[in-house]
Formats: sequence, C-alpha cells, structure tokens
Amino acid sequence: MTAGPPQTVVIVGAGLTGLATALFLAERGHHSITLVDLVSGTEGYNSNAHDPVPIILGRHRETLRLLRLIQPPTASEASSLFLEFRLADGRTISYHPPRLPGSWQWIMGLLRFRGLAWRERWTLLSYLEQLWEGARSLPPDLDNHTADQWLESIGQSPMSRKQIWSPLSRWLTGNHLERLSASVFVHQLAEIFLQNARDVFLSSLHGSIGDRFLTPLRQALERKGIVPLRCAERPLLRVGPSGIEAIRLPDGRRIQARWYIIALSHRELLALLPEQLLARYAYFARLVDLEPLPEATVEFRHRVISPCPRLVLLADNLFHRVVLTPTAPGEMTCRLSVTVPPSLEELPDDRLLQAARDELQQLYPHDPPRGTLTGTVHRNQQAALSLHGGVTLRRPLQQSPLPNLLLAGPWTDTGWPANIESALVSARRCADIVDRQSTR
Ligand SMILES: Cc1cc2nc3c(=O)[nH]c(=O)nc-3n(C[C@H](O)[C@H](O)[C@H](O)COP(=O)(O)OP(=O)(O)OC[C@H]3O[C@@H](n4cnc5c(N)ncnc54)[C@H](O)[C@@H]3O)c2cc1C
Repeated sequence: MTAGPPQTVVIVGAGLTGLATALFLAERGHHSITLVDLVSGTEGYNSNAHDPVPIILGRHRETLRLLRLIQPPTASEASSLFLEFRLADGRTISYHPPRLPGSWQWIMGLLRFRGLAWRERWTLLSYLEQLWEGARSLPPDLDNHTADQWLESIGQSPMSRKQIWSPLSRWLTGNHLERLSASVFVHQLAEIFLQNARDVFLSSLHGSIGDRFLTPLRQALERKGIVPLRCAERPLLRVGPSGIEAIRLPDGRRIQARWYIIALSHRELLALLPEQLLARYAYFARLVDLEPLPEATVEFRHRVISPCPRLVLLADNLFHRVVLTPTAPGEMTCRLSVTVPPSLEELPDDRLLQAARDELQQLYPHDPPRGTLTGTVHRNQQAALSLHGGVTLRRPLQQSPLPNLLLAGPWTDTGWPANIESALVSARRCADIVDRQSTR
C-alpha cells in the first residue's frame, strides 16, 4: 500500500479533540488542515486550560502516547500515586496491586484490599474466576441493569457499594452507581483492573491542562503551519446530495475540503446540523438522547514544599473525591468533587467551601495543607456523559452516514466514558479514517 495524496480537511472546534485530530493528521503528512474555532465557545466538555491535569491511568494509552509526542523531554515531571479510599469509619485504605504477571496482579491486589470485607473479597474473586474459566458468563441483559443492581447480585453489601463502588464509579465514569449501566461498569472494571499491572498505575502530571496539553498541541501545530481560524459566530455547514459541500464562515468566506471533522460537544453539533439531516438519519436524531451530567467542584490552591499528589475516593455524602495535584512550582491544587444534588444551585458556595475545609481537616488531621488560598467553587453543566442502560447504542461512531463527515469528541463511541482518553481515541480514529481513504 502506498501513501496517497495529502487530504484537505476542515476541523470545526479547536479544543483538545480538534487540536489532537489536526496533529494526528499532520503527523501522517496531511498538512492542508483548516481548524475553525469559536472565540467565545465555552459550551462543551470544556478543556479548561487552567484546570489541573486529571490523574492518568496506565490504561490511558492514547493520552500517554500524545504526551510523548508533544512534550519536550524537560517537561516530563510526573509523580505516581495510589488509589485511596476513605471509609466511613475514618480509615484510609489504598488499592495497591503488586507488580505480578497476568492475572496474579489483580488476584493478589483484590485479596490484599482491606476496603472490602474478607467474605466479599472471596465472593468477588470466585465470581471472577468462574468468569475467567468460562464456568459462568455475564447476564446477556446486563445493559438493562444498573451497576448497583449487578454488584448486589454478586454479593457486594450496601456498605461496600457506598464506600468503595459508588465513589469508584463516580471517578471512573462520572456516573452514579444507581444510574450507570452495569454493562458499562463491568467493561470499565475489566479494562482497567483485570489486564496488566501497569494499567492500574496512576500518575499525576505537574501543571495544568493548558501547560501539558493545549499549549504544546498548539505549538506543535504552529510548527507545521496550522493555526486555528477564530470566528465570532458559529460557522454554517452546507449540505449537498453527496455530503458536506462547504463550511461558511460568519464573514461570508466558504471553505471547501475533502473531509469535514466536527470536534464539538453533541449539543453544539446539534445546533450546527441542518434540520434535514436530523429528520433523515437516525444516526443524527439519536444525538438528542445523549444526556450531559453536571459537576461542581471546590478548589483550593495552596503552597507546599514537597508536592505529594493524592487521589482519595470518599464514602462521604457531600464529596465523593479529593484530588491533590501539583500545578505550579511550590503550589498544589486541591479539588473536591461534589456528589451532585438534583440541582447544582441548591448548594450555596459558602456552605460548600466550609464543608470542603472540614473535609481537608479530616484528611490531614495533624498537618492540614498550609498557606491555603481562597477557595473557589466551579459548576459545570456538561462535565460527563450519562451512561445509563442503552446509551452505548446511542453514542455515534466517528464515521457519519455522510461519507465526508466525521464526528470526534469524548461523547462519541469509543468504549470510554466522556474523558480525555475518549476524546483522544476519537481523534485518532478520525485520523485513521482519513488516512485509510487516502491510501486506497
Ligand atoms: C468540569 C469537567 C471535569 C472534567 N473532568 C475530567 C476528568 O477528571 N478526567 C478526564 O479525563 N476528563 C475530564 N473532563 C473531560 C475533558 O475535559 C474533555 O474530554 C475534553 O476537554 C474534551 O475536549 P473537546 O475538545 O472535545 O471539547 P471542548 O474543550 O469543549 O472544545 C470545543 C472547542 O470548540 C469550540 N467551539 C464551540 N462551539 C463551536 C462552534 N459552533 N464552532 C466552532 N467552534 C466551536 C470551543 O471554543 C472549543 O475550543 C472534564 C470536563 C469537565 C467540563
């Protein structure tokens, strides 16, 4: 197979997904790329440049691959850490699988994990062994059950569902155990915990999303002559009988290309799509059913001498997670994620801030973080994607029914919840589709 001619590509949306798609294409020799971004486009899954980089799992292969591609060797600071659980009785227990080959790592990791009662560890282990040996199989209608129902059916007590499984599900998927599809949860657990020991390793990158992802991506693209075009209003898609014909910018310019890749949130995409596509294709109509989930976090930045990142999942009712990450030399960011009530607005900021300070006091009873600056509360209506039963079938594949239109974004069908890894997997798949067509 020989490399074909470079393809012309328009990418709408220059957040993490759009920038990564452009870089993956440029790396394969497709330099004729136009990136179109909205100046005030804050709607979406929002790669907020100032946010700390989320904790990265060894299984986040696409994320680690991108970091290797864009980071100068001098910026490789990262610290490893363990997954910790703070139980209702105040004890903190870490999940610490040994570096053993194959299934030994999770067998020993589970046996040693004191967050679950002995009996529950044995029940879970024997259940997994039976699955492994083919002596039993997962229920065929797993997607019709919630993760909570499934855990109950395999002998996990209400206490361990509250203390361990519920905050784990929130961290891994952004979803409540009571609403999350059992099938999605099982898939995530198997992907992360039941493969290689290194998949479960956690690393915390120093710096913000801007420092580690967005700025190096923009710089790498700039070196290849690709600079996003910024518009004050939404561009428009022009659809013809055989696909997208052009994109029209607010200043009246038309841009034509062989490929159009939309790297926006599903809500923004719906606002961009002509009605005729929604009416004609179930693929697009189904996007209406994708439901974003909100998140509120309380953030403190404080000074430290030696940064020590932590990820603690909480059995608490108000917060389900505390993450401490180094964001600048001598500075840590501490983020507490709120277990969201029906409406985010129900919790006033001052109550959240006080509760967060109390929580930190409990985490560090003898040595609370010093030099704590003023805390801030962040509320975001689209922080995750609801992964209830049936949603997997509604997440679209990257190739749309229009042959020259591709969709990228953490909410597309990637096998991951709507996180950075998912965004990058979708970007890679779009680049693969364009590349495959050019080599035909
Ligand atoms: C509060 C919150 C917490 C999160 N926590 C985690 C986490 O812990 N771990 C994790 O892995 N992931 C997390 N994520 C998800 C992660 O941030 C996203 O997967 C990632 O940022 C998605 O990037 P994106 O480029 O698809 O979207 P965005 O960053 O939203 O980018 C979209 C881009 O499109 C532009 N735009 C918008 N509308 C238009 C338009 N009509 N025309 C042209 N351009 C347009 C915008 O200006 C923007 O540049 C979190 C997200 C949020 C919001």
